[in-house]
Amino acid sequence: MRPQPAQAQAMEAVEDIVIAGAGLAGLATARGLHRKGVRSLVLESSLMLRASGFAFTTWTNAFRALDTLGVGDKIQHRTTQVHHK
Ligand SMILES: Cc1cc2nc3c(=O)[nH]c(=O)nc-3n(C[C@H](O)[C@H](O)[C@H](O)COP(=O)(O)OP(=O)(O)OC[C@H]3O[C@@H](n4cnc5c(N)ncnc54)[C@H](O)[C@@H]3O)c2cc1C
Repeated sequence: MRPQPAQAQAMEAVEDIVIAGAGLAGLATARGLHRKGVRSLVLESSLMLRASGFAFTTWTNAFRALDTLGVGDKIQHRTTQVHHK
């Protein structure tokens, strides 16, 4: 028996993983899963994007994680590295 349109739509909406919160952690998790071929659904409770903040500051080794997500190069081109003597 072929699924009816409503059934088919419900079937398409089935995700492997549900992530609560579309912040940095939630979106990074979703992207990491996507790169592994795992579908996820990100739910965000806020109606508005929080666009406050000043800078993204991190240590060099964090770029390993960003590389794994496939965004390390893009971010590195926009960074200033601070070296100590
Ligand atoms: C005012 C301010 C300025 C900041 N400035 C900087 C900065 O300049 N540089 C910097 O590196 N860091 C800054 N930070 C810190 C940075 O924002 C956090 O470290 C980072 O956002 C944490 O990411 P997160 O994904 O863990 O949490 P969040 O970014 O807080 O994301 C969590 C998301 O989950 C949603 N949520 C919560 N509960 C639910 C639920 N039950 N269902 C669905 N959605 C839900 C929230 O609405 C939110 O969007 C700032 C933080 C604040 C508050």
